[in-house]
Amino acid sequence: MGLKAYLNDIVEAVVTTAKGMRITARYGVNPKEEVTLQYPEERWEIPQGYRGFLHNDIKTCTACNMCVKVCPVDCISLESVRGADKKMVLCSYDINIGRCMYCGLCVEVCPVNSLKHTSGYEMASADRGEMILHFIAEDAAEIKARVARQVAEAAAKAAEAAKAAEASKAAEVPKPADLSAEAAKAGGDDPKAAKAEAPKAAPEKKE
Ligand code: SF4
Ligand code: SF4
Repeated sequence: MGLKAYLNDIVEAVVTTAKGMRITARYGVNPKEEVTLQYPEERWEIPQGYRGFLHNDIKTCTACNMCVKVCPVDCISLESVRGADKKMVLCSYDINIGRCMYCGLCVEVCPVNSLKHTSGYEMASADRGEMILHFIAEDAAEIKARVARQVAEAAAKAAEAAKAAEASKAAEVPKPADLSAEAAKAGGDDPKAAKAEAPKAAPEKKE
């Protein structure tokens, strides 16, 4: 390093220190101009529209998968199965907030507004696993097994109902023997039918 560069460094150090001290002196003289907060006792007021941690109301969520598809960093994952009533049942719904960049695209596409940003932003952890928010506490395998049982029960009930309906329909259809008896009865009761079936008398001869 030459003498000129050495002197320049000294001048620059003096100037930047003086700038810093001028700001310190200004806020020291006028404490109303404080720019820091005594966090965590004090906190900034969260502005409207702030995009904090995500929350999914799983009772409203329809497991449509749109948030999963739209997320540019693949931080949402869900599992679902079709239930006995043909609707999708969520088995798991997780968001990795350590990977999320809070772009809000998933909230925009959610058709039922179940996914929303909260004002939460405080989360520190030494374990990446803790950064994954699990919105369904029950084990996914247990939910799948329960739904599969419900589907099987519903299918068995539907098959039984169909069988019973078929049996009652078969009981209502008259047998051929019953048909002829009914026809004979109908003929006897109906004078027109009896007349039609009676043998005609021979014409009388005129003398
Ligand atoms: S806010 Fe953006 S990055 Fe975060 S989960 Fe939603 S789509 Fe993905
Ligand atoms: S977009 Fe909304 S309704 Fe669809 S899976 Fe995501 S959170 Fe659920």
